[in-house]
Parts: sequence; C-alpha cells; structure tokens
Amino acid sequence: MPDQNKHKSEQNSNPKGPPNLKKIRKPLFWFYGILFMILASLLFTRYGSGPREISWLEFEQEMLIQNDVEKIEVINQTVANIYIKKEKLSSSKYQELQNKFNLNSSGPHYIIQIGSLEGFEKKLEEAQASALSEDKVPVRYVNQIDWTNILYWILPFALIFFFWMILLGRMASKGRTGALFNFTKSTAKITTKETKSTITFDDVAGLKEAKTEIMEIVDFLKNPEHYTKLGAKIPRGVMLVGPPGTGKTLLAKAVAGEAKVPFFFLSGSEFVEMFVGVGASRVRDLFKQAKANTPSIIFIDEIDAVGRSRNRANFFQANDERENTLNQLLAELDGFGVNTGVIVLAATNRADILDKALLRPGRFDRHIYLELPSKDERIEIFKVHIRPLKKAKDINIEEMASLCPGFSGADIANICNEAALIAARKKRNHVHQEDFLMARDRIVGGLERKNKITSKKEKEIIAYHEAGHAVASWHLRHVDSLMKVTIIPRGKSLGSAWYLPEERQIVTKSQFIDQICASLGGRVAEEIVFGDVSSGALDDLEKVTKQAYSMVAYFGLDEEIGPISFYDSTGKNEQQLVKPYSEDMAQKIDEEVHKLITTAYERTKKLLLDHREELETLTQLLIKKEVVEKDELENIMGKRKKFSNEHKKQHQ
Ligand code: ADP
Repeated sequence: MPDQNKHKSEQNSNPKGPPNLKKIRKPLFWFYGILFMILASLLFTRYGSGPREISWLEFEQEMLIQNDVEKIEVINQTVANIYIKKEKLSSSKYQELQNKFNLNSSGPHYIIQIGSLEGFEKKLEEAQASALSEDKVPVRYVNQIDWTNILYWILPFALIFFFWMILLGRMASKGRTGALFNFTKSTAKITTKETKSTITFDDVAGLKEAKTEIMEIVDFLKNPEHYTKLGAKIPRGVMLVGPPGTGKTLLAKAVAGEAKVPFFFLSGSEFVEMFVGVGASRVRDLFKQAKANTPSIIFIDEIDAVGRSRNRANFFQANDERENTLNQLLAELDGFGVNTGVIVLAATNRADILDKALLRPGRFDRHIYLELPSKDERIEIFKVHIRPLKKAKDINIEEMASLCPGFSGADIANICNEAALIAARKKRNHVHQEDFLMARDRIVGGLERKNKITSKKEKEIIAYHEAGHAVASWHLRHVDSLMKVTIIPRGKSLGSAWYLPEERQIVTKSQFIDQICASLGGRVAEEIVFGDVSSGALDDLEKVTKQAYSMVAYFGLDEEIGPISFYDSTGKNEQQLVKPYSEDMAQKIDEEVHKLITTAYERTKKLLLDHREELETLTQLLIKKEVVEKDELENIMGKRKKFSNEHKKQHQ
C-alpha cells in the first residue's frame, strides 16, 4: 500500500507539522479523567459527608438555648457554620457527630442556610436574650471564594472538552492525524516514480484516437525540447469528455503509469468542503505542490463539481464557495507560465455545463472526446477483461460484443466479473459463454425473480402483453430484431422482449414511429384480448410519451409544428421556470403529441388484429415455457420479411 507508507513517512519527517494527537492523547486522557474524579468527589463531599444542614428551630431549641454553641461563622452572608463546644460533643444528642467527625474536630458541625442576614441576626439576638446563659455566642463574618460552586459550573464544559479530546484522539488513531489542522491542504493522492500506478496503456482497450493524443502529452513532459525548439507551447490543460464508464479515469491512471513523473490525482468534489475558503486554498496548495515537483501531472476527476458555469441562473441556491474555488482554479491555470512542466488533466461527463472560462485557450483548451465503444472496440475491451478469467472453450467474444450494443467499458468489465461470479455459483471450473449471456441479462434487466408472480390470471395478462410487443415488432419494418421473449420477472419488470439494437448514430422519423408502435403493442394486446387494460404498461407509456415529445419539440419531426427545436444544449432552460415557447405553441405541441400517439395506437391495433392467431399461439407457448427464443418465434410468425433481413445483414 504505497499511499499509506507515504502518509506515515510524511508524518514523521515533518517535525514542524501539527502535533501528533496520538502522542498527546494519553496524558490528556488521564489528566481529564483525574479532574473529573476530583470534581465528582467534591460534589459528593458537598452534598454527602459534609456538615448536616439543620433548621433554625432545631438550632435554637437544641443547641443555642442549651448553651452548646461555641461560635457561628457566617459565610458570604448566605450560610452559617455552627461550631459545637468540644466538651458537649460527647453528649448523646450529638451521637451522629461522633460517628462523622472525631471528637477533636474543630468543625463546623452543622450549617444553616440564611434567608436574609438581618433576619438571622435579629432572631439570634432574640434567642440569646431568652437563653439561660449570659454569654453571647461570637459571630464572625467571612467572605470566601466558593470553589465547589465554581467547579460545579465548570464541570459540564470540562466534560464536553473531555469527550471532544477523545474524539480527536480517535481521528488520530484512524490515521487522519492532523486532519483538523490540515484541512486547507490539498487532498490529492500522489503517485511518484516509486509508487507508480500499475495501469498502463495496454490495459486501455480501443479508444485509439484518445490514446494517441494522451500519449503525446506524456511525450510533451518527457521531451519538452522536441516541441519548444520549434517554438511550440506545451498545452496546459486537457479535458477528457465522455459518458460515464468510457474509461476517462482509466486513461488518466494509465498516464500516471506510463509518464514516470509525479501524478496528483483528486476528484473535483474534494475541493468543496463545508468551510468557506477551503476549496480555494486546496487549489492553491495543489498547484504549489505540483510546481515544486515539475515535471508533473495533475488529474482532476469529475471537474464539473467545481467547474459548473457561474452564470447559470440558479434561483434556489447560491454557491459562493464553489465559485471561489473555480476562480482560484482559473487563476492558477493562468498563473503558471508557459512550459513550466505541469499539465492538468480533467475529466467530466458534462462538458456542456462547464464554465466557458475553463475551456478557453490557455486553460483546458485540448478536448479529448471518449465515445461509447463500437463493436470492434467492445471486442478489445472484452479481451482485456476476459484475460484474467479461467475461460471455457466455447467463449465467443464476437457474439458477446454484438449482443452488447451501447454498453460502456465499465458495463463490459461488470459483465465479465458477473459471469465469473455466476460460474462460481454453479461450481464450475471455467466460465462459459452461457454465464456471460446470463450476466448480460442480469446487468440489463436486473435479478431474475421467478416467484414474483403467483396468480394464474396475472401470468396470462403478462404473457399477452409481451406477446403483443413481440408480434407487433416482428411485423414492423424499422424495429430492431427480436431475440427472445420472456415472462420471467427480472428487476422491476414482469416480463420482457429482448431486442438486438442496431448500432446507429441517427434515428429516422419512420424508425421513431415504428418503435412507438412496438412499445404500444403490449397495451394494445391487453385491450384486444380482455377488453380491459392494466397498469402494467406504465414503463412503455412513459417511454412512448417522452419519445413523442422529443420528436415534436426537439427533433423537428412533426409536420404541423415544423422544423423547430426547443432543445437547449447549454442547459440554461432547465433552470428556468418559464418555457421557451408561447402558451399557444405549448397547446399545439400537446395536441400533436396526442395525435401522434393515438395514430400509432390505432395502427398497432390493426396490426395485431391482422395477426391475432400468432398472438394467441405465442401467448400459449409463453405461458407454457416462460421463455421463447428466436427460432421458435420464427416458427410461429415466419421469418421476418426481406426488410428485416436487410436490416440484420447490416447489423452483422
Ligand atoms: P469514467 O469514464 O467514468 O471515468 P472509468 O475510467 O472509471 O470510467 O472506467 C471504469 C472501469 O471500466 C475501468 O476501471 C475499466 O475496468 C473499465 N473500462 C472502461 N473503459 C475501458 C477501456 N477502454 N478498456 C478497458 N477497460 C475499460
């Protein structure tokens, strides 16, 4: 664990650093422990074994009139200490005193609380006037600091302080020594030559262009003269942009592994703390450290945590702290001169929301886009992640890559791991193709829950619903090819039709409409068969409605509305409370969406009525077998017509 070792050696080699709380914890612990005991015993003495408090009447009748009192001491005008004459102490009425004090004790033996000093003096005078003896009892007035009272007030604070110190001690023992004093320091993990990352460019599959660009950066740092002698300026900031799981962090770690220069790695959220000003000082500290170790690389993951656009209208939250941090980051990026040997890499999934100032030339001016992998790239990624597994001979990487369109590198890594877990659960010695397919289904659809549906009626409704999707999509020209239909519940869904999506960058209007019809197939089947509809179509309807709205309002695919788009790539509209179109337009959009969906519904209904028999046969087979594969679908509905064959050919 190189990081931990580094941490330790830093603590020890820093004599001026913050005090080691672990060391000071022990004496402090004992000190406060003893203090606590003293206070407790003082309180106990005060209210437990000290002189007994008596009433005026008892004092007057039993002691004063009997001439037993030696002297009275009035303390702070509030308490009177009563001292009994030594010779009287042996009498039987002072039995309790004999048990408590020894007979030579000077006292005080009793106390009386005085309401008002004047009243006390008056009562005392009157009582002495009627007493047997002529001798007056001497009264002394004493002003004293009442320590027990003071300690009584201090005690709660001492206790709070005591527990606070224990807490700090715990933090220290968990290795966060000095966290309290060091919170303005950068929290970046440092990879040096000695502790370099084991990830190399070989572990990054696909991403050819990105790799070439990023390798160039490594070269900038290793051979700067090569570029500077031609007068070129070495870039300062490189932004890796792409959907989650496409390998941005992996690529940065590979740079750390290959560059052989100090690499500062931290996440954007680490700058943001609850204390004001911490973010900015962490940025300052990070750049200071990087400059002291040139040539070096700083990698800020998830930079959108600090780099969000400052002028985005945000009525509900002001975030000055984040802005201060961003300003500091901008200042630091500007601050270090050209060719200083520090390169800043950053990664984000949301380049659209970043502050424009961050992206301008001289800052993060190089952008490397990482896309979801193509089929060939998926094959390469599969190869990387299958490498450490014990695989069976039947593994077909190409088939798997084609069954995972739209999957990111992270998804593929997940499938490989899940497949190994499934094989282990089956007590197999090798991971088989079947395990990979199960892992894929599980990752896409969630866990299989065979016992979720108990009633026969529900099973029937679900079977008709899924068969509806299957039959409709089988006869629609532009829907992806259907692989299998199941009514085994998985994750949140009760059944599903599995398609093999085509890899495409754009979607045509006919494809949109066919997809909407296929999604409505389940609901339509329920209506045709039962004359009643269920809540089971929620997901389908949600998808259909969103698709229809985006067709009309974003993609300009509706004839009535025309080629107009209300999409806002800057994301500013999300924050605004008003829509970017008039009431009139809003109404028109709603009408068009409604028209589009109802037309598609009627079309699907006609399609299913035309193929009513197929619907029936497929449903019965589904109820019997729960899973119907592609060849059985072909048996029932015939091969998909030529258009679908073309489509499949394209896909393969
Ligand atoms: P992000 O883009 O969200 O930073 P990561 O780099 O953290 O994604 O990727 C997560 C995981 O996905 C990696 O640890 C790796 O196992 C896998 N992965 C992603 N892309 C690739 C790739 N191109 N080659 C190999 N593995 C990859």
